[in-house]
Amino acid sequence: MARIRRRLIAGNWKMHGRLKPAVAEMRRLAALVRRAGRSRCDIVICPPASLLVPLRATLAAAGGLRRIALGGQDCHSADAGAHTGDIAAPMLADAGARFVILGHSERRADHAETDALVRAKVQAAHRAGLIAIVCVGENLAEREAGAAYRVVGRALSRSLPASGVTAANIVIAYEPVWAIGTGRSAESGDIARMHGHIRRRLGRLGPGLEACRILYGGSVKPANAAEILSLADVDGALVGGASLKIAEFRPIIEAAWAIE
Ligand code: PEP
Repeated sequence: MARIRRRLIAGNWKMHGRLKPAVAEMRRLAALVRRAGRSRCDIVICPPASLLVPLRATLAAAGGLRRIALGGQDCHSADAGAHTGDIAAPMLADAGARFVILGHSERRADHAETDALVRAKVQAAHRAGLIAIVCVGENLAEREAGAAYRVVGRALSRSLPASGVTAANIVIAYEPVWAIGTGRSAESGDIARMHGHIRRRLGRLGPGLEACRILYGGSVKPANAAEILSLADVDGALVGGASLKIAEFRPIIEAAWAIE
């Protein structure tokens, strides 16, 4: 039976990537996906904003634009204005982005982003026609205190706007903060239970929202990708460190293809 939700593998390059090597990595990714033939899961790369335009050109030249999407890593809640150093969602769209990551724990920690701000950014992303990848996840103290479900449920309800949200314009990324960039991913059972919790919660937040794709993020790597991607309610992965080199990202994409 065909899967209802198409898998999505997203690479978050964070503040990594200089022009020349980034273009070379994107060419490798485009060649990999082209060789695979039909596009068997959605792939999105979220590079630093400065690389969106050149990487879009690289994809266009390599025939990869239909198979690999680009995304931003953040956007402002306003469409334009006096906000030095920020980037607006329509600018990301102009630069070729179709997705934007919002509420990543690094943004929440480094820039004190609140759920209310994330919600306003989601609205801005939707005004610009972008698909928002909204990150939620508990920190270690919250997990150890047995508060993970409550924390994630609350972040979810507060970060999503009350209207205009559909399974087509939102992707949820469950990213336990203690698993990001640490090499230590969550246990399979914990991931599956949390994803089930998120899906039930989404179902209560709005009609049809239980059909949203839910990604797991936090030290996904070639060695654990197949197991994580085969878990119930896991529709893909948000991958940081292991997405920077296509040699490491490739087995993760292939793991998604293999279990299609
Ligand atoms: C992330 O940045 O969203 C992430 C999951 O990072 P890593 O894969 O490196 O843990």
